[in-house]
Amino acid sequence: MNVDTIAAIATAVGESGIAVIRISGPHAVEAAARFVRSRQDLRQAPSHTVHYSHIVEAGSGEAIEEALVTVMRGPRSFTAEDVVEISTHGGIVAVKRVLELLLASGDIRLAEPGEFTKRAFLNGRIDLSQAEAIMDLIRSKSDRAFSVALKQVEGALSKKIGTLRHRLIELLAHIEVNIDYPEHDVTEMTGAYIKDTSREVSDEIERLLKTANEGKILREGIMTAIVGRPNVGKSSLLNALSQSNKAIVTDIPGTTRDVIEEYVTVNGIPLRLLDTAGIRETTDVVERIGVERSRGALSEADLVLLVLNSAEPLQEDDRTLLRLAADRQTIVILNKTDLPAALDERELADYVPESAIVRMSIAEERGMERLARAISDLFFSGAIESGDMTYVSNVRHIALLKQSIQALSDAVEATEAGIPIDIVQIDVRRAWELLGEIVGDTAGDSLIDQIFSQFCLGK
Ligand code: GDP
Repeated sequence: MNVDTIAAIATAVGESGIAVIRISGPHAVEAAARFVRSRQDLRQAPSHTVHYSHIVEAGSGEAIEEALVTVMRGPRSFTAEDVVEISTHGGIVAVKRVLELLLASGDIRLAEPGEFTKRAFLNGRIDLSQAEAIMDLIRSKSDRAFSVALKQVEGALSKKIGTLRHRLIELLAHIEVNIDYPEHDVTEMTGAYIKDTSREVSDEIERLLKTANEGKILREGIMTAIVGRPNVGKSSLLNALSQSNKAIVTDIPGTTRDVIEEYVTVNGIPLRLLDTAGIRETTDVVERIGVERSRGALSEADLVLLVLNSAEPLQEDDRTLLRLAADRQTIVILNKTDLPAALDERELADYVPESAIVRMSIAEERGMERLARAISDLFFSGAIESGDMTYVSNVRHIALLKQSIQALSDAVEATEAGIPIDIVQIDVRRAWELLGEIVGDTAGDSLIDQIFSQFCLGK
């Protein structure tokens, strides 16, 4: 299907120990062999072998790089085509020289973003939901997000969708027979069969959708705002979260705010912390996340960690923040419990339930477990499922699942209204097609192009 051979740098560009250039397509081995000098002729190399080589300029014969060259012949490769991977020294110069050499040869062109994965899809090695999960895998910010994506790469979701589609296609076949041989007068039975199967498949999809919220959280992190009056312990909390959890600090492209967001995990729960710059950068204690600045972070947050100083009586600013946080999922952190208590906890009852109050001494590193527990109670109905759970987290999949439920409910309604089954069949077929779009069976070219264009180069 793909006649041309493509190449791209597969590792992140910059200084590194090694870098990898990946080549895929019918001429991969032959084209690479022209530049690679190794003890064994690459063209004769068996699949899945690694060769110590020099990269030489075709004209001058001059060696420009030392490399390890891996040959993987299709279909046992990532793209299901012949693949050659050249591992060179890291750094921008070495890889660029090798890549330019390859491209100058004329029979290799630069790959588009995601084109390797797209070929794996077009060659039938993976389906669309698996390809999308590969992207999630690359972008995952926490161990758990990684596990969820890996599960999907391995085909957990595809299998579920496959089973559901199989039931619908059996139903469609049954309807077809009934349309073709109406004298068999089993219309009534067919009606019952349509209703039962549609409801059952629809219930299964509902169950899958229930995981969507948690899947999204695991993938993207809970948008979390840490708020509180100056000096209550916000930056101490931030530091405690970052240090104990190997924070990944990311500059998320596409956000208009000029703040840097940070990811931390609390017992495996990924939090995406909002406006940490406001907590960290201001040295003026009075300025540090005043009530005004908190409003901004609060408006975006799914989770509010409201820090109070338990060693002082509740103040007007505390009350204002408690009120502002009222319509959010809020955990009130009573900090500084190592000091004598001065805050009357009965006052809090007007704002938050007891279950949302966590007593901590951040300075003495006490209470972090309780905080994690409180967050998982709020977002994961108590427990985060183990790694073998299938989560739906992709918005495209969620939309398609919802539409297929609608189509199935249309089928049930139409059957109940006594509409002829050849018309009802249209709804069932639609559900089957919508589910097929998730795995890419019934997805159009433009959708496929759009999905793969979001990938990084070399993947
Ligand atoms: P922020 O202004 O809300 O960011 O507060 P900081 O995190 O800068 O903390 C203000 C002060 O309270 C600092 O001197 C911290 O060392 C202190 N502090 C933070 N947490 C605790 C705690 O649990 N107990 C005690 N005794 N002091 C704390």
